[in-house]
Amino acid sequence: MEKEQKIKLARIVITAVLWGAMFFIPVTGIARLAVFVVLYLIIGYDILLEAFEGIIHGEVFDEDLLMAVATIGAFALGIYEGKGEYNEAIAVMLFFQLGEFFEDLAVDSGKRNIAALMDIRPDFARIEKDGGLRKVAPNEVRVGDTLTVDPGEKIPIDGVVTEGVSSLDTSALTGESLPRDVTPGSEVISGSVNLSGVLKIKTTAEFGESTVSKILDLVENASSRKSRSENFITKFARVYTPIVCALALALAVIPPLVRTLFMSVSPDWGAWIYRGLTFLVISCPCALVLSIPLSFFAGIGGAGAKGILIKGSNYMEALAQTKTVVFDKTGTLTKGAFEVSGIHHCELENEKLLEYAALAESASSHPISKSLIRAYGAEPERSRVTDIKEIAGQGVTATIDGHKVAAGNAKLMNTLGVEYVDCRSSGTIVHMAIDGAYSGHIVISDVVKPTAKQTIAELKKAGVTKTVMLTGDSRKTAENVADQIGVDEVKSELLPADKVEEVERLLGEKPANGKLVFVGDGVNDAPVLARADIGVAMGALGSDAAIEAADVVLMDDDPMKTAKAIGISKKCLRIVKENIGLTIGVKVACLALGALGIANMWVAVFADVGVMIIAVLNAIRAAR
Ligand code: ADP
Ligand code: MG
Repeated sequence: MEKEQKIKLARIVITAVLWGAMFFIPVTGIARLAVFVVLYLIIGYDILLEAFEGIIHGEVFDEDLLMAVATIGAFALGIYEGKGEYNEAIAVMLFFQLGEFFEDLAVDSGKRNIAALMDIRPDFARIEKDGGLRKVAPNEVRVGDTLTVDPGEKIPIDGVVTEGVSSLDTSALTGESLPRDVTPGSEVISGSVNLSGVLKIKTTAEFGESTVSKILDLVENASSRKSRSENFITKFARVYTPIVCALALALAVIPPLVRTLFMSVSPDWGAWIYRGLTFLVISCPCALVLSIPLSFFAGIGGAGAKGILIKGSNYMEALAQTKTVVFDKTGTLTKGAFEVSGIHHCELENEKLLEYAALAESASSHPISKSLIRAYGAEPERSRVTDIKEIAGQGVTATIDGHKVAAGNAKLMNTLGVEYVDCRSSGTIVHMAIDGAYSGHIVISDVVKPTAKQTIAELKKAGVTKTVMLTGDSRKTAENVADQIGVDEVKSELLPADKVEEVERLLGEKPANGKLVFVGDGVNDAPVLARADIGVAMGALGSDAAIEAADVVLMDDDPMKTAKAIGISKKCLRIVKENIGLTIGVKVACLALGALGIANMWVAVFADVGVMIIAVLNAIRAAR
């Protein structure tokens, strides 16, 4: 608890005790009034100040003012009636403060949730310089510097291990609790914690471009993208509060005037002003204004702690309405870690063909490229390669040792006018052409991710009516994967532009109030990520483009997180709706009773604070 909160709690307790005592101590007259004024100031001075500041700054209609007017009015009525009855003013302030106190605690716990995520921010980097180590701020490190990271420290900047063996805890980034082993050559991501051995790391990015900075940016900006529910409430409060104030005034003034002028009975000013004031207390919209952003806040925080970064509550709202989920295949539903399972029709030695393939692929970040380079088993000599061109959805071409080399699928061979030999083996085929002549193909095979099938089943349970897989791979491979996983529809041999077209068709076919989610790994699918209602990029720890293009970022590459994201969003939205319903329902009932003179200020303040506390407690559930 912070100092301010402790002070507030102390004020609440002191006021409650002294006020309780006043029920037993027979002080009357001026002395009694003086005691109550002191009590009132102890509990309410900050509200009075804020209401006053609100008036000065022209922000008149906020809940502080409502409370200030209502309690001062109640006090004035008490003095006017002369019976020493000031309890209501104290009660309203006391419970209002109690409610605010609760709210504060709740917001804090929500923040702490996100703070757990924020804990990824590194404080320093230790850089090797002139034979010694120097501690510097992470943003002073340049690309290519060598850092030393001791066990227990955070990796400050993305890079590659050059020395040392250790395991890393990436749980703050991915929600994944199993440590990841790293050895020289492994890529490491800023924000993960070094667990066991001293590591030397050569940085591959500046701090501002590192994973950690991108994630922090994203989380910090999440609250600025507001959902429709939130915007609705802001507008609602802006209209609602003045209306309620006008109604309260009318309730206090019109009936007494009517009574004297037209009915010739006593105006009974006291009773009607009291009703007007009660009306004000009841109408305070704080439970709504507060609980809705808090629910989203809690939901986004809770998702973040599980490695699901949602860029704004608007996306959370959309996720909850998901009806169609479209997946990319390679790297999304399959591991994208291909093994070479055969080399056929090879005109050269198999090793030579693989070497050409690895060299041609040396600049690409496609899972196929990475796998071929891994199969080659050595660092490709980039100096032998020039003119590298990557043709999305087809493959690559390059000049190696003066020979024009092409590696890719049947489409690429057709584009280049090279006659190729079809392959009957199952798997993804990388055809190779050297100087325009076919020189064989490499068969590589991928495996379906272990959670892929379960993901589709979970999505069905979460109310998704259609699951689709899109891929640039051959029909045979695509259908094989689709059968294993159980998606409803599969489209193969698509170029990136065809994928956009498919998504557009699916957008047209989905139910009007349903949303379409596209899940990809961020490798040449940025246009689709942008076109879908919600673009989900997974394995953001690998690809940079993904974090920018997507609306939701999954920190590791488990497709199951898609179903989780939808589940969390649905729960959050349900809570928001519950809170709106509960608050408005109770308010309307109390307003009616208040106007009729049945509900007094006690009921009003209990209703207000009670609803607020319930709403806040309900909102916090969204984080779990
Ligand atoms: P997916 O839709 O499965 O994610 P892509 O659109 O990235 O696949 O690629 C489609 C197809 O294009 C691949 O199956 C492969 O045949 C070919 N291809 C793409 N990039 C490369 C590459 N770098 N090397 C070889 N083939 C590639
Ligand atoms: Mg892909």
